[in-house]
Amino acid sequence: MTIGEYISALSDNPYFGAGFGLFGVGAGAALLRKGMQASLIFFRRHYMITLEVPCRDKSYQWLLQWMTAKGARQTQHLSVETSFEQKDSGHIKTKYDFIPSIGTHFFRYGRTWIRVERTREQHTLDLHMGTPWETVLLTAFGRDKNLYFSILEEARQMALTQHEGKTIMYTALGSEWRPFGHPRRKRPIFSVILDNGISDRILKDCQEFISNPSWYTERGIPYRRGYLLYGPPGCGKSSYITALAGELGFSICVLNLSERGLSDDRLNHLLSVAPQQSIILLEDIDAAFVSREDSPQQKAAYEGLNRVTFSGLLNCLDGVASTEARMVFMTTNYLERLDPALIRPGRVDLKEYIGWCSKSQIEQMFLRFYGGEGAKSQARLFSEKVISFNQNVSPAQIQGFFMFHKNSDPQEVINSCELIWKL
Ligand code: ADP
Repeated sequence: MTIGEYISALSDNPYFGAGFGLFGVGAGAALLRKGMQASLIFFRRHYMITLEVPCRDKSYQWLLQWMTAKGARQTQHLSVETSFEQKDSGHIKTKYDFIPSIGTHFFRYGRTWIRVERTREQHTLDLHMGTPWETVLLTAFGRDKNLYFSILEEARQMALTQHEGKTIMYTALGSEWRPFGHPRRKRPIFSVILDNGISDRILKDCQEFISNPSWYTERGIPYRRGYLLYGPPGCGKSSYITALAGELGFSICVLNLSERGLSDDRLNHLLSVAPQQSIILLEDIDAAFVSREDSPQQKAAYEGLNRVTFSGLLNCLDGVASTEARMVFMTTNYLERLDPALIRPGRVDLKEYIGWCSKSQIEQMFLRFYGGEGAKSQARLFSEKVISFNQNVSPAQIQGFFMFHKNSDPQEVINSCELIWKL
């Protein structure tokens, strides 16, 4: 049989004909699929724009919040972030923030539809936070990348306006700073009543420091300044720093040096990555280290823990170099317990004693609580009477006493002022 006869015999065979036909259909479909894939890739590459935002990026949270505000709320698939907000009155309000859940969502921005894909990796962790790694991928038709710039800018602006008039508190989580609770309403600086001139002195010093970076760079001096507020508890050290941050438009990064697991390296890292325009606050600095008066057992217990060492802190303070103004505030109730090395100039540039109430402080506090006719002379009477007891009194005690007598007649408040020490 010749080859020609063989082929013609095969093509006459109905089974082979059908198989060949099927093979042809399959090959055609595969070719079509490949062609479609290639054109989809071509289309995506040339006529679509994508933006990937990983969870470590600063704009990640802003973007999720912004998308929710922009209508992603209408999606049926949300995740919730519950937070508690404590009002000045002490009332606690629960707040739910809805953000698009893991999965795919669509929303409209201007005349464009945007596809949002939020994914969570099951096997990859964000090593700093110990949480699963997440990304958000935005995809839109077109070639104009400015679309994403304006989205990110809008998201940033929205986050900023939410924080306007508020002071953000950060706390250290792992090797990062994370906002702690809800931003607090700025406390007016005049509401913290310090003895004559102290508040002005600190505020002026900070303002001068912030507005004069070139003075430091020209002299090759690190652009940082250390402050120490010391004095008895309840006299307004923390309140003043919070109010000062509000006045300067700064946020506050609170660092607890006694925290377990805070090593010298981590402290160094945290100080160098602190958010811009923030005050670093080291509270009760005396409690963080072994004191010479501690018993040998206490010393041994301290040393067994993985904590910041005193020399580590000094190195960190000396090394805090930044192009941004870097202000470190420390507070203590016991100045005498601090090692002189910690508070020498360069580490602490301004020290202020925030002490028990003076007569004028008591008067001013009275006037802030009780107005009306004759308030000035009543305030004088009240302060004279309190001072006549010859006992230390803190602004916190006076505030507590006034709050107890919130609805009382000012005269009654004056008459019962010996109760300040009994509350
Ligand atoms: P400290 O940090 O010195 O221990 P705080 O700032 O925590 O004191 O003050 C405790 C409370 O007392 C706060 O509620 C604050 O409002 C009030 N208080 C303390 N000092 C003052 C002050 N000088 N003027 C107004 N309120 C004050």
